[in-house]
Amino acid sequence: MKVMKFGGTSVGKPERMHDVAKLVTADEESKIVVLSALSGTTNALVEISTSLSVGDRNTAKQQTEKLEAHYKDFCSKLVKSAPALEKALAIVQEHFEFLNIILKISFSEALNKDILAQGELLSTKLFCVYLEEKGIDHLLIPALDFMTIDYYDEPQIGSIKVKLAQLLQKHPDKKIFITQGYISRNARGEVDNLKRGGSDYSASLIAAAINATVCEIWTDIDGMHNNDPRVVKKTVAIEQLSFDEAAELAYFGAKILHPASIWPAQMYKVPVKLLNTMQPDAKGTTIKEEAGSTGVKAVAAKDGVTAIKIKSSRMLLAYGFLRKIFEVFEKYRTSIDMITTSEVAVSLTIDSDANLADIVKELEPFGTVEVDSNQTIVSIVGNEISETENVMQKLFAALSSIPVRMVSYGGSRHNISILVSRQYKEQTLQLLNKGLFGLD
Ligand code: ASP
Ligand code: MG
Repeated sequence: MKVMKFGGTSVGKPERMHDVAKLVTADEESKIVVLSALSGTTNALVEISTSLSVGDRNTAKQQTEKLEAHYKDFCSKLVKSAPALEKALAIVQEHFEFLNIILKISFSEALNKDILAQGELLSTKLFCVYLEEKGIDHLLIPALDFMTIDYYDEPQIGSIKVKLAQLLQKHPDKKIFITQGYISRNARGEVDNLKRGGSDYSASLIAAAINATVCEIWTDIDGMHNNDPRVVKKTVAIEQLSFDEAAELAYFGAKILHPASIWPAQMYKVPVKLLNTMQPDAKGTTIKEEAGSTGVKAVAAKDGVTAIKIKSSRMLLAYGFLRKIFEVFEKYRTSIDMITTSEVAVSLTIDSDANLADIVKELEPFGTVEVDSNQTIVSIVGNEISETENVMQKLFAALSSIPVRMVSYGGSRHNISILVSRQYKEQTLQLLNKGLFGLD
């Protein structure tokens, strides 16, 4: 059994949804099909929620009406027969009636989660109406019946496994199961979600739970590329990545895959394939245990990074200094991405400046604190980089004109990270495309 996940753009237009139906019926293997909301929907729901949270019901109502009109139009192009259209419109009506009731209730975090869940509920139900019209046998299995998270918002993989097995066992005759990405039930039993972009995470959790043969992530690009196509002219898709390499790339900026979706697949040894709905025959990228080849495979950039330097002559020959510094970040639940040290100073980066002022205040007793915001981490990812000839030489030669703020190397065998001011990001990625990959 395999998992096939389709993102927002893959289901965002009626004709795309038709293509998805073709893809899920293209082979005989039984499968769980995980769908995102239609593209733009979750953003629209966030806007409705935001209007409600500030008490602006009129705007929320207008936003809801606009979204409803979009869905009605979608339905009219999704199905052909009158009974199917009636069914699809009834589903739309049911969900928008629910939203309209919510508009009248006082806003809470639980209601916010209910609002956000409507996108995936709608996309899966509408897809099922289309499959039914086409005579394609299938079964909708609601994610809210098996996808659970604990008090720390962590998915409960053990329980997901048991619940899914029970659900699937009841329908040995079915080959195509449809479910929602993103949404879950929390420890209080309420509707919740796996955070924005979380459908990939759902797919990977499901793939792990059923020990799938493969977890296919279908998007609108033919795999992970060696560089950011928005910044450099020429990029190539990477054929194979190890889980470790993919985790670094997903975290450091390659938008194609949610970074959290790596660990369940890695832990349960399920290969992940990144495929293109619009070019189904393209090879895409396979992510598995083995890296496939050595050397540098890709570069990726992550913006919105803050660098903090703590300089103190007391650090010289002292022990326990780093512990004290790390404890400050732990206290404010802020994770550190990069770290470099000299004998008298330590520089590190964080990607959330929510508690920056407090952190700086608590660091000040340890030395002089300097903060540089608006930085970008450029990560060079590959396999056995240290054993590959001339990587450092090529890297530094390529970047001779860039003022590099930090370099982190040796943390793993898969990664070299450099920190540059945001203004140098594009130039850095372009120079590396030429210097490391020989591409323009
Ligand atoms: N619909 C959700 C979002 O837009 C989840 C996803 O698509 O992965 O964030
Ligand atoms: Mg996504």
